Amino acid sequence: MAKRDYYEVLGVEKTATDDELKKAYRKLARQYHPDVNPGNAEAEEKFKEINEAYETLSDSGKREQYDRFGHDGPGGFGGAGGFGGFGGGDFGGMNDIFDMFFGGGFGGGQQQRGPRKGADLRYDLTIDFEEAVFGTEKTVTLPKWESCDTCKGTGAKPGTSATTCSRCNGSGQVYTVQKTPFGQMQTAKVCPECGGTGQVIKDPCTECNGKGKKRINKKLEIKVPAGVDTGSRLRMSGEGDPGEQGGPNGDLYIYINVRPHAIFVRDEDDIYMEQEINIAQAALGADVLVETLEGKVTLTIPAGVQTGAKFRMKGKGVKNIKGYGKGDQYVTIRVVTPKSLTAEQRDLLEKLNATFKAVEPKKDDNSRSSDGKKKEEKSENKKSFFGKMKDAVDDFFDEE
Ligand SMILES: [Zn+2]
Ligand SMILES: [Zn+2]
Repeated sequence: MAKRDYYEVLGVEKTATDDELKKAYRKLARQYHPDVNPGNAEAEEKFKEINEAYETLSDSGKREQYDRFGHDGPGGFGGAGGFGGFGGGDFGGMNDIFDMFFGGGFGGGQQQRGPRKGADLRYDLTIDFEEAVFGTEKTVTLPKWESCDTCKGTGAKPGTSATTCSRCNGSGQVYTVQKTPFGQMQTAKVCPECGGTGQVIKDPCTECNGKGKKRINKKLEIKVPAGVDTGSRLRMSGEGDPGEQGGPNGDLYIYINVRPHAIFVRDEDDIYMEQEINIAQAALGADVLVETLEGKVTLTIPAGVQTGAKFRMKGKGVKNIKGYGKGDQYVTIRVVTPKSLTAEQRDLLEKLNATFKAVEPKKDDNSRSSDGKKKEEKSENKKSFFGKMKDAVDDFFDEE
């Protein structure tokens, strides 16, 4: 039973991003979910197929292996007798079997004749909060292999070429027969003579010592788009290690890590921050200059605001990386009680306090602010505002 290509199953390109994979998967999974298609065996098969494809392609390690080896796995197992008894089903299960025989998993069996894609590389890039928000360009130095110019990657001295390996007759593999609980099994091993390439270089290139590639430190310009966040992954096609025997280069994956900000906390495209105000501003209302990503912006705070009140500043968040507008900034108010007072302030507050005493506070309200200093100045306003605060502590007020 021939398996369909995983990319084909999900209906995506080979270059599909994780997000594209996720989207395609979600759409198909909804369509073929057994709950939606009760008793439909075909849909159930399809659902399994979709899940298997997504499980493999959504895992970067598994995807890389799949891209290299396809369904058949490494080392030319494909089609060889012996595995029939396993039912050839689950990819994960096959993986375990490869581990069993190769010890090192795919690593040990990855030698394969013919063109092979170069290894994908990972680079971890840490950037500042603002750089993630607005985008940036970084120059990094990446240690990697580069195809040798002198021999054009063949490893043979210019003018000479590699010859077919006599040990494996160019197949790159030697076979052994093992007895296992499942019967006799033919297993393939990488040819020790040629290292699996099927070819032997008699006259190696002196520049690369026959490797066909050189270790270099490559300077790379990385364009980081606005809106990335910790966990974002950028792909630089072809910037991985060189392919072997004419295969394509691997890709470079940049993993983004964003340093925390002194004031702002980010959640997706929204920004959160705390704003301190004094007791007079809280009681009287105030226009407060609030730090935003684009500089200070005036936020109008109504009279009688309490610690914990939240305000939303629309569009003051992060530009969405896919171009879906901008997030918002949420400002949580913290009313700061003064710890030391000037003589004048003390005098004013004592006078104020005397007026509070004269008004005869309601018991409920009194218990909410034990300081007892600043809470009622417009009694007709106060009631409704308090009620609102009580009902919706976690609610926010939109900035006008
Ligand atoms: Zn060379
Ligand atoms: Zn050989």
